[in-house]
Amino acid sequence: MKKLLLPLFIFISFGIIAQTPSTFTFNINGSPLPTGLVAALDNAAQRWNNYLIITVPIKVNITLVNGSYYPFSGLTLANGRTNFVNAPVTDHIYPTALANQLAGTALNSGEYDMDIYVNLYTSFYYGTGKPTNSKMDFITFIMHEIGHGLGFYSDGYVNSSNIGSFGNIPPSALSPLTTSFPWHGQDSVPTIYDKFIIKQSQNHLVGIAPEHTTMLGDSIKHTTNYFDGPTYANASNGGLPVKLSGGTGAFTLGVDLLHLHSSVCNSIMSYCWGMGDTVRKPASFEIGILKEIGWNINPASSVNDIALVENTFTIYPNPSHDNIFLSSSFPKEKIKSIEIKNILGERVAVLANNANSDVSMLSKGIYFITILTDEFQAVQKFIKE
Ligand SMILES: [Zn+2]
Repeated sequence: MKKLLLPLFIFISFGIIAQTPSTFTFNINGSPLPTGLVAALDNAAQRWNNYLIITVPIKVNITLVNGSYYPFSGLTLANGRTNFVNAPVTDHIYPTALANQLAGTALNSGEYDMDIYVNLYTSFYYGTGKPTNSKMDFITFIMHEIGHGLGFYSDGYVNSSNIGSFGNIPPSALSPLTTSFPWHGQDSVPTIYDKFIIKQSQNHLVGIAPEHTTMLGDSIKHTTNYFDGPTYANASNGGLPVKLSGGTGAFTLGVDLLHLHSSVCNSIMSYCWGMGDTVRKPASFEIGILKEIGWNINPASSVNDIALVENTFTIYPNPSHDNIFLSSSFPKEKIKSIEIKNILGERVAVLANNANSDVSMLSKGIYFITILTDEFQAVQKFIKE
């Protein structure tokens, strides 16, 4: 009896510092099952699980395909719900992986949260070391695909007649792929991620033009898109919106909007990484984006805590013409600098460390005021009129 108890005790005491058990479950369809794939899946799930507070298990349906005719290495289709109990924002589709956490219960009992197609035509590396330059790191790859199911997911669409819409991707556009779940709630409403997309003009993409118009199609297709997360995401990105994919004049379903721009490196959700590369860790701004759309982040995770400081100061009046006042909860003597950056991240002014600051020299627009202390930096958006 004692021999049985002792190992149990060791397991529990180590369990405190070890990673928590994964709250992802995987159903795998198709064969052959490559050696190492299941272990790599579990590794990726543990990694996401380290960052997110998951109370309702996330059910992932994986289908293995194999063919050069599929134009992808992987593709994720997320299940969704709108206007559920405790939905922070109404009339937006939340991926069920997130909606379930917010509702505190599985809203999609009997349905998977996401379908991930994995094309084994791609030469994957399933280990935890470094792949050669001819192999794609499966852990990074599947963290990316799961990332779509967690919320990096747009339903913006431009059809062949240049008509733009949200929430109206026809199932035929995905053919021959299908979802294992019905198209719940995808009825002319954007995703919660779409809500935060802005153009260079600062206008939100959703609502920039009427649904089902070429005007909206043009807005989706042309000029750069950014994820503008005023509460968490920008603060985790040096005070700036995060540049997204697309806006190059053509629309590619499954590529544009729902990825970070290819220039945004050391991130899982961009195309910056490729064969031979590993990321395996979300960037602080990727965690910031997930937090912005509603995820609770594990405070013990190795996230850039500096970036996630909340509500540390306020600016008033905001908007302002000439003078602004900063009010903070931390001692003034701790402040190292106060800077104003424009939307491009360029420093346009340094403010004196006192309550009243003149901003009359700034041209009209959106700015970010950054307060830097020895312990953290805090960022707030400011509008100059
Ligand atoms: Zn992707």
